[in-house]
Amino acid sequence: MTAFREALLGPSYWYHRRLIEQSKSWSSDEIREYQEDRFGRLIRRYGTEITRKEDYRQHLGRYSRWDAPLLTHTVRTGGTSGQPLRFTADTLARRQKERAYLFDIWSQVGYAPHDLRVAYRGDVHEGLVRYNRLENLWIISPSATMERDLDTLRSWVCTVPPFFLHVHASSLFTFIDLVGEDLFRRLPIRGIIAGSEAFPIAEQARFERDFGIQIAHWYGHSEYAALAYNCRACRGFHFYPTYGYVEFLPSETEDCQRVIATSFNRIGTQFVRYDTGDLATAATTTCTANQFRRVDAIVGRAQETFTDSEGRRRSLFGYIFGDEKSILWDHIQDLQVVQDRPGALRVRLVTDPASNRAQIEQTLRSRMPMATLEFEYVPVIERSASGKRRYFVDAMAGGER
Ligand SMILES: [Zn+2]
Repeated sequence: MTAFREALLGPSYWYHRRLIEQSKSWSSDEIREYQEDRFGRLIRRYGTEITRKEDYRQHLGRYSRWDAPLLTHTVRTGGTSGQPLRFTADTLARRQKERAYLFDIWSQVGYAPHDLRVAYRGDVHEGLVRYNRLENLWIISPSATMERDLDTLRSWVCTVPPFFLHVHASSLFTFIDLVGEDLFRRLPIRGIIAGSEAFPIAEQARFERDFGIQIAHWYGHSEYAALAYNCRACRGFHFYPTYGYVEFLPSETEDCQRVIATSFNRIGTQFVRYDTGDLATAATTTCTANQFRRVDAIVGRAQETFTDSEGRRRSLFGYIFGDEKSILWDHIQDLQVVQDRPGALRVRLVTDPASNRAQIEQTLRSRMPMATLEFEYVPVIERSASGKRRYFVDAMAGGER
């Protein structure tokens, strides 16, 4: 089975895996040379303007290369730091390339390709768990974690051999709460893989010390333009120079820089000097691990939790954005969730005129059976002065709406 899985990884996987290994010993000059060549070609083609989501929404064809049914496919993003977006990606190479980088990140906590993982993220499906043979991955459906399901979850998780737990930073603590801390401490967890959100450094250190389990996390985004791993040596983020090109430009937020990313893919949508909407704080320390560009922290995307109808706190991220490939995002332009009272959430939506509201509401209700959902359709979601819009507002905690 392992040989079969390895065979499926394909040439792009092996190409990038070699490139990653080599790049770790490059000098900063060698990194600059590699990046300037690729970046320069893209600038000559598209110009030097900073681009935003809206540019790709309106002129997708202009930024997309070799778009053809077999070569590329459409990717949808749920978008936590902005509105959903559709673009195209290389059908053959993208997944393999992603895998090479992710496996490298996960190897920091001892993961080897195709080791067993258990995911508690946001993939909603029938029943409590589902097994993906090719990935060697058990997937727990968050919508099947109502109070009445928890005993089954606890019994099941005890039967799993040593595994890596794959979560969102915010859903890790929801998972511990669901199975119970005593049981969690007894589980044979080899490491935590925490994707999609920044993991607060202090919380990571506290967790690792308290539970004796290491966490691998990283910064990436749905547009596949930049990727940085969190370094165990300096606790900052190192950007892979062969994945894409990043620039850090001044922002209106004090001490923060905007993360501007340019993707190195040849096929599909090419993001060029793309304002990711994320902010970073500049590196104040040095790190000898490699010469990759670094930042101390990625700011933004905070952890948000809501209170369900049983009074249990759950991470909102997985429920709303966990399945960001859902066709739901074709109908939603923007969204915000407000908690006014325990057990109830008000979902504020900006939708296309042609969207099927009944279907949107039914999909979200089936993802979150543990809370009462109310829907409010609005023309626009207000943004803060720095252009960020909060996707969760805890009005019970006195938060503004
Ligand atoms: Zn480092």
